[in-house]
Amino acid sequence: MNYRSTRGGASVGLAEALLLGLAPDGGLFVPENLPRLSTEDFDDKEDIVDIGTRFLAPFCAGSALETRLREICTEAFSFPIPLRDLMPDHPGRLSVLELFHGPTAAFKDVGARFLAACMQRLDAAASQADRRPLTILVATSGDTGGAVAAAFHGRPGFRVVVLYPEGQVSPRQAHQLACWGDNVLTLVVDGPFDACQRLVKGAFTHPELSSAHRLCSANSINIGRLLPQAVYYAASSLWHLRRHGRPASYIIPTGNLGNAHACVMARACGLPIGRIVLATNANRTIGDYLASGEYAPRESIATLASAMDVGDPSNMERLRKLFPGIDALREQVRAYSVGDEEIRAQIRRDAQRYGEVWCPHTATAAHVYDLLDAEERKDPWVLVATAHPAKFDTVVEPLLGRTLEIPAELAALLERPTVQQHIAADLDALADRMAVS
Ligand SMILES: *Cc1c(COP(=O)(O)O)cnc(C)c1O
Repeated sequence: MNYRSTRGGASVGLAEALLLGLAPDGGLFVPENLPRLSTEDFDDKEDIVDIGTRFLAPFCAGSALETRLREICTEAFSFPIPLRDLMPDHPGRLSVLELFHGPTAAFKDVGARFLAACMQRLDAAASQADRRPLTILVATSGDTGGAVAAAFHGRPGFRVVVLYPEGQVSPRQAHQLACWGDNVLTLVVDGPFDACQRLVKGAFTHPELSSAHRLCSANSINIGRLLPQAVYYAASSLWHLRRHGRPASYIIPTGNLGNAHACVMARACGLPIGRIVLATNANRTIGDYLASGEYAPRESIATLASAMDVGDPSNMERLRKLFPGIDALREQVRAYSVGDEEIRAQIRRDAQRYGEVWCPHTATAAHVYDLLDAEERKDPWVLVATAHPAKFDTVVEPLLGRTLEIPAELAALLERPTVQQHIAADLDALADRMAVS
């Protein structure tokens, strides 16, 4: 399988697409064609590692990773990803796919761990020629940075630079971003997430930064994060079909559109997925685009679901490439925007109604489910739970009037001391910090 930039250009293999992150022309790598798979291809497979190895095989065909795929999937999918029924009286009607049982308690662990497992195996070959460490640059609105830092911390031959927007992540997220040290440099940027994202994109074309370091990006622009995310959609769609006899539709909390794009890809490959509905917070660029047909990126605004505070979703470029034209896109996805008040109300309501505590991101999806009309709700739906609520205790606990139990992995990270530096949202400032560290 070869990969090509969304903006055209020459095609490259998977290894190169992973290591480059962003295509040289500024576009994003996408598979040249999507494999066609059917449910029968997975007939004897139930475990997510088996399903993932089969699903990803065509995407890795011809690459150095092809023969290591099972090993890589075993490393990436080493924690549970349960699909749970929320309405036991109506089996299969509403389920939740819990993606937050990894080391940093958000779905970003899946992509980060897969990417790290791939890069470790690829870089052994690449670094024969160039012995500088590979520097993974990552802009984060809260969860990616911690997941990537956790995945690469202590791996020889790698360095991670995390950039996060000052004051726009939860206190526990901030702790998770800065509790590493060693080969991880954590930078607090004076500016919003979009500014962090611009710094990462800009670094690749900045003369000093791009020559002084072997740079690589681990944002959801990296195809190596999208591919493993498609695996949990493949697996959960098969589990759902086997258990309940009908394909599930998904509601996905959405920011940069990486998680949702992975679901769209899995469906385009032939997995049994019904509708795909995007839940955004008050950042409504996607919904407005689907409604008007005019793509109007804007500055992000701060909300309770801060990991989705994105005004110009980076994976929009991939989605539009896969489905050119607004009408084609409208057939693929719908989007609803959910405000902070609705997020708060939903967290309270579902704690009472189902005894389920959502993080603010997952709450947007739960709210969108309640917006569907009665006819649509007769179909089976899956809410995608993107983070553990204890990561957002300062939002969730006051709403419920009680403290939440902290998962063991998260508790361990919160005990580590933090180390970080502040910088202006400026490429020269970034170059200075990266030169001395
Ligand atoms: C990153 C993140 C999202 C948004 O995912 P995208 O792939 O950027 O659309 C939603 N919820 C949580 C908890 C996240 O960390």
